Amino acid sequence: MRHQYHLESIILIDKYLRVLVEIRNSEIFLPKMFVSSPTAISLPINNYYYIKTIDFKNYGKFINVLPINVALESLSFERDRKALSYVIDFIELYEDDVEVINSIKFVKALQSHNVDLLAQIPKSDLHNHTTLGGSRKIIKELSGKTIPPLSKRFNSIPEMNKWCDENVKQPNDYKTRVRASFLQAKRDGIKVFAPNIATCAKKNFQNVNDFIEYIRCLIAEFSEDMKIYPELAVDRNKYSDDLKDLVKKLLDTGLFYSIDLTGDENLGVNNFREIYSMAKSYRIICKAHVGEFVDAKHIIEAIQTLNLDCVQHGISAISDNHVMEYLLRNNIPLTICPSSNYYLSRVSSIAKHPIRELYRFGINVSICSDDIVIFDSSISEEYLKLFSNKVLNEYELNKIRIYGLNFYNN
Ligand SMILES: [Zn+2]
Repeated sequence: MRHQYHLESIILIDKYLRVLVEIRNSEIFLPKMFVSSPTAISLPINNYYYIKTIDFKNYGKFINVLPINVALESLSFERDRKALSYVIDFIELYEDDVEVINSIKFVKALQSHNVDLLAQIPKSDLHNHTTLGGSRKIIKELSGKTIPPLSKRFNSIPEMNKWCDENVKQPNDYKTRVRASFLQAKRDGIKVFAPNIATCAKKNFQNVNDFIEYIRCLIAEFSEDMKIYPELAVDRNKYSDDLKDLVKKLLDTGLFYSIDLTGDENLGVNNFREIYSMAKSYRIICKAHVGEFVDAKHIIEAIQTLNLDCVQHGISAISDNHVMEYLLRNNIPLTICPSSNYYLSRVSSIAKHPIRELYRFGINVSICSDDIVIFDSSISEEYLKLFSNKVLNEYELNKIRIYGLNFYNN
């Protein structure tokens, strides 16, 4: 299948195929001719070459380049466009860098609206409440239980929790549901997974040691399929004086890479100051749910009070430029869950999701699932929804995908 590539798009791809084109002052420079080198591949169109990234270091130094300067708005660029399209269409024949291949496959999978292909490409899920993170299909496979589809959108978390209590949590099958979230991640090509495990899940075990052992076994079972970065969650609604001791005991295991604060955002974050200050001493990532329901100004307040490194949701930032600038300046990323935001009536439609403006403003975002069993949307489907609704283009979504995969390396 042939695709039309916009030059702008090709340049975005070139983040990973850096040598195809180069922009200087809104002009495009194409390497046209250069002496052959072992890694340069000749293409049958008009002497264009595909040079691997490694050669770029030598670009202009050892290679005889005759750049063509073409203004972006020029339409006499069809031949060049064809050559570049050719490279991209047949990239698998030339390229052996798996990251580049995955980028191209991802872009093509979106363009062909193929969710099965998307599921084969590495992605991350950095915001997944494991007890609700498996799909209906997997829950059915594991337990025989049928969970009905949503018949309407929710207006609040309590409304959603009520639906869950009635439709998902009867009977209480904690382990099955958590297992379903790991299987879901595996089947959807999640290679960087941050399973969110709540402290209150301890109630499903005889004692805290059994709880810890259970988490260890789960990680061991799935660690060949993906990199697992467990996240410990504390609930605003369930604050107690002995919570800090439990958090300490759990963090002492070294199993957790991040801490998260869930529950009613209106309760604020002040109760959790001490716990977060302790968490910082473990050098883990500090996250909290904020800006899903409360105003933008509470986002900064939470970041400053808890010394957050990352915000779960944070979409209300869109209403306040000052908050967006704060996130950008302090390099605070957002974990964004589009279907969750839609079904909890945080956005009127996927097409109007603020991730477009947040991302284009320069704020780092990753695309996450939140609660797959409720919102019935895998990570692959989330990407496809954003693409189909023209929220972000395929190249932007690919950059977001790569950002998520590198989240723990940054
Ligand atoms: Zn969440």
